[in-house]
Amino acid sequence: MRRKLVVGNWKMHGSRPVNAQLLSALVGARPYGCDVAVCVPFPYLSETAVALTGSDLRWGSQDCSAHEQGAFTGEVSAGMLAEFGCRYAIVGHSERRQFHQEGDQLVADKAKAALGKGVTPIVCVGETLAQREAGDTEAVVKRQLSAVIHTLAHCAGEMVVAYEPVWAIGTGRTATPEQAQAVHALLRAQLLAATPRASEMKILYGGSVKPDNAATLFSQVDIDGGLIGGASLKAADFIAICRAAG
Ligand code: PEP
Repeated sequence: MRRKLVVGNWKMHGSRPVNAQLLSALVGARPYGCDVAVCVPFPYLSETAVALTGSDLRWGSQDCSAHEQGAFTGEVSAGMLAEFGCRYAIVGHSERRQFHQEGDQLVADKAKAALGKGVTPIVCVGETLAQREAGDTEAVVKRQLSAVIHTLAHCAGEMVVAYEPVWAIGTGRTATPEQAQAVHALLRAQLLAATPRASEMKILYGGSVKPDNAATLFSQVDIDGGLIGGASLKAADFIAICRAAG
């Protein structure tokens, strides 16, 4: 039985007083019965670490450089994330793929860099609406995951995968539990062919998860929790989603 994992992706939201309130609400609402983490903007890592240390809540970043160090202005390395106690780094989020032209190999290199420093990459894959309507969902997510599997090689079993249909992110339009499960099953089969650890690996669903749809999504056999955007900014909603996974 895989323990569920719920991860909040704050995106570029927050402020020091708002974060302090949110984090203290999350700590106060424990226990959840599942693993819980928040992926925060880089400048807030330090205070997030202070707020969550001593609890079983984890934290992470929303990106990670593929490089170890050097002249890469604006980038943050996996080693730096590890220094701030990051357990996770989201890589390949569709907003990075879309607005920063990140391709499959770069995403895979970022995942490798994270793992190299003991930071678990949460690798996002997912199709656009046009790709779904063209019947290309399977080919797209397989291609995205395949680049990471090949690059991580024998360490592939250590990543977390997040299926996030682009058309469901921040749109209020959620994949039905059946649609999501169908893609998760494909991803699980691909992982099974690549690593003996596939049956223990977590595959999260992300895309407009809310308190009222979380339980049904999380009850699907290959859905091991969620990557939560908008709803992770509201303590009551995020707590309710974590409880639905517990
Ligand atoms: C996300 O940003 O990863 C996400 C799933 O966003 P939302 O929950 O707002 O759709």
